[in-house]
Amino acid sequence: MSTNYFKSNPDEKGYFGEYGGSFIPEVLEEEMKKINDAYYSISKSHEFISELRSIRKHFQGRPTPVYYCNRLSNKYGGRIYLKREDLNHTGAHKLNHCMGEALLAKYMGKKKLIAETGAGQHGVALATAAAYFGLECEIHMGEVDIAKEHPNVVRMKILGATVIPVTHGLKTLKEAVDSAFMAYLQDPINTIYCIGSVVGPHPFPMMVRDFQRVVGIEARDQFQEMTGELPDNVVACVGGGSNAIGIFSAFLEDDECKLHGVEPAGLSFKKGEHAASLTLGKPGIIHGFKCYLLQDEKGEPDPVYSVASGLDYPGVGPEHSMLKDLKKAEYHSITDKECIDAFYELSREEGIIPALESAHAMAYAFKLAKENPKQSILVNLSGRGDKDLDFIVDTYGLPE
Ligand SMILES: *Cc1c(COP(=O)(O)O)cnc(C)c1O
Repeated sequence: MSTNYFKSNPDEKGYFGEYGGSFIPEVLEEEMKKINDAYYSISKSHEFISELRSIRKHFQGRPTPVYYCNRLSNKYGGRIYLKREDLNHTGAHKLNHCMGEALLAKYMGKKKLIAETGAGQHGVALATAAAYFGLECEIHMGEVDIAKEHPNVVRMKILGATVIPVTHGLKTLKEAVDSAFMAYLQDPINTIYCIGSVVGPHPFPMMVRDFQRVVGIEARDQFQEMTGELPDNVVACVGGGSNAIGIFSAFLEDDECKLHGVEPAGLSFKKGEHAASLTLGKPGIIHGFKCYLLQDEKGEPDPVYSVASGLDYPGVGPEHSMLKDLKKAEYHSITDKECIDAFYELSREEGIIPALESAHAMAYAFKLAKENPKQSILVNLSGRGDKDLDFIVDTYGLPE
């Protein structure tokens, strides 16, 4: 089988194998087609590419470094390296696709960016991109999340975004998606819905992946320069799957590199206590696309949970769903407890406080290192932990 296949895009209907596609109201179909056409033409435009390159270098501070964890490698075995997306502007990988989406919006003549946010990370990244380009920004957020994630609400407002509280249903992420969708439907000509991961209808899973691919391309070059070889293992956490697909996409043709995605096992594998979509889900449809989905007999998404709020999504990107079936990547899960242990471990042994999402990837890397002491492991450290400190202190107290 030709490995070139894996570099290629989804088919013209947006399918990665049997996953992805576009299950949306007719009114939006036309709009998605316009976005797809605009993306197709500008992704080949010299002007667009050079503007994005310049933004990445001068505004975001890319390339982010690859760092060798000397103390952790000595302790656990293996050779552990981190791709430092925590050092990307705003402290996570999310700005990589938000800047791309906002630049696309500008080229399409859009005036306003609309999105939902759960923990507020996507909202902050998008509000940052909107400020950079002088676009309006409207972020829909459940009232429960607004109360829980106060610092990010403040950040969005300081950056000039309007935060719309969502007061119906459970007042969390799902209702915020519905609300943002309704706002977008009211004026699809002047606005664009900026999706926060490699999910949603075509072309978003492809487009967001392409914007995140910079992580993998940089890391592959940097790793080779540091070691003269490719990593034996690449590890990343998977919520919707954007940071993972970003780093995986540069290694898909390297059969010697094993790719590991890490999902949240939460408190247990009981329904409602985890968000391990690829591990325990079945193919289904959510938010306009087909993927591995945690769902009931009627196809309604299950409630999900993780200590890392960026990972608690019942679906997962269509390309990951395909990579799992093709066995091009393996998917594992890590519990809340293992995540918290890894959070402290990386903080104390290396002086890097990770996001709880990224701590899932670290926890799996430690297991891998113990089992394979001769191998190298490249972890995508998707974000920094500042946003999680209040939660950590409230829940576990301050260490002695
Ligand atoms: C949002 C977030 C994630 C999860 O999103 P993916 O699309 O799966 O990458 C992971 N890490 C951090 C730091 C995040 O903010």
